[in-house]
Amino acid sequence: MPTEQSLALSELFFSLQGESTYAGLPCVFIRLAGCNLRCRYCDARYTYEEIGGNKSLSEIIAFVDLYPEAIVEITGGEPMLQENVIPLMQRLVDQKRTVLLETNGSIDLSSVPDGVTIIIDVKCPDSGMAHANRLENLTTLNKSAEIKFVLCSRKDYDWAVACAKAHNLIDCRNGRALRPVLFSPVSGYLPPAELAAWILQDKLAVRLQLQLHKILWPESDRGV
Ligand code: SF4
Repeated sequence: MPTEQSLALSELFFSLQGESTYAGLPCVFIRLAGCNLRCRYCDARYTYEEIGGNKSLSEIIAFVDLYPEAIVEITGGEPMLQENVIPLMQRLVDQKRTVLLETNGSIDLSSVPDGVTIIIDVKCPDSGMAHANRLENLTTLNKSAEIKFVLCSRKDYDWAVACAKAHNLIDCRNGRALRPVLFSPVSGYLPPAELAAWILQDKLAVRLQLQLHKILWPESDRGV
């Protein structure tokens, strides 16, 4: 008898979505274990420093079913490292759930099922992981995808602007981006007001994104 597909899980919890155009909405988080990168500012080291527990797709979906009105975010670590994330996303989409996939963008995303909103966290130079970006992903994304640049410095900002323009993500002529482009300052590295001033000065059609969970729950480093 075949065993059921499973995933190595870091945590499963219910909170508020914090870092996309869905920010503020109640959300079930499926945080998978393991990551292929080591960003300098990583606040989820436990996803790769601790051994995750395995759960079957049915067990994960049973937890999601406890919150029928919530959106669902699959995150990590890097969720695309585990092939069984694909059937999990497909089952959730088939159940008509709103599904977000937050990924570091270093892995080919062409197998992500239609109906999933991809949020790519493009790695800027000060993350120390910019070499790992698979920028081809930016040219094949569907319309619902969101591109997030997590910024530590002015150097990161300049790099992000150049990258967004090179991939035609920002259409300044019409005063709005072709798709949501999020500029998110790393807490403790880049003051949000400084980033706001740069965006206004450059009249950029990007969204300033604050890390909502760090504002709401500054003392909590997991489960939020
Ligand atoms: S990709 Fe995300 S989880 Fe992985 S090291 Fe970077 S910040 Fe941490």
